[in-house]
Amino acid sequence: MRVTSVFNRLLDLSGITVTDVRFCADGVVVDVRLRSRRLRCPRCAFTTKARYDTRAEPSTWRHLDLAARRLRISADLRRLYCPVHGVITEGVPFARPGSRFTRDFEDLVGWLATTMDKTALARLVRVDWDTTGRIIERVVADRLDPDRLQHLFQVGVDEVSWRKGHSYLTLVSNHETGKFVWGREGKDAATLDHFFDDLGADRAQAIQAVSMDMSPAFRKSVSTHAGQAVICYDPFHVVALATAATGQGPPAGVAGTAQTARPGHCTPVPRSPLGPDEKSE
Ligand SMILES: [Zn+2]
Repeated sequence: MRVTSVFNRLLDLSGITVTDVRFCADGVVVDVRLRSRRLRCPRCAFTTKARYDTRAEPSTWRHLDLAARRLRISADLRRLYCPVHGVITEGVPFARPGSRFTRDFEDLVGWLATTMDKTALARLVRVDWDTTGRIIERVVADRLDPDRLQHLFQVGVDEVSWRKGHSYLTLVSNHETGKFVWGREGKDAATLDHFFDDLGADRAQAIQAVSMDMSPAFRKSVSTHAGQAVICYDPFHVVALATAATGQGPPAGVAGTAQTARPGHCTPVPRSPLGPDEKSE
């Protein structure tokens, strides 16, 4: 079997045909072409058979690693004229608009963000935290469940910063499902107030516990809208604060573990999926 056929089966990406595979010093590059003759606007449902010009737009996306080596998908894209968005490079079925990562890669990062701490995540996927924040933003926007605000009893509130700390996203997750349920740009009490506006008073009264970092802004918003909820400080942030205050590193082997701090006078809940901004190594 030819190597292109092997990679066609291996990648199993929709709408593409593998044309070449190159093994480079920094990983594997898989050249592909789009099977569809129609060009699709990446920002709306418009499609057309007409190219805007013959100029090729070389594009690459990082995909899931292959045997611990980075794997990149490479394609020459075409340009089209969308009546709404003007001249634009066509969209691809295997990646979200504007992303340099495949949908599979981003979904993996989104899932990992709900199950492990950020430093481990960044090391595992070898992506810096700013980039991780943007990936999570796209995954959240794309995969929000319309019933996501139903049956919320234990939630986590956290903030993600990116663009070197100039942009913030407040995220709310459901601890019982481990999924993000809400997100909005900003990090103050008014930002979280919008979550409670979307939730409504009845559902807000059903919340039993909220985990968060030690931000007074989040605490104020929760106290105002869900005064019955127990507020749990995320052990990760408690440890970070104590470490900063003492100027000492945490004892070996206990950094970031839930056993290193008590989350206050509340029922312990799983730690919030996201921590503060941090660059990967
Ligand atoms: Zn368009």
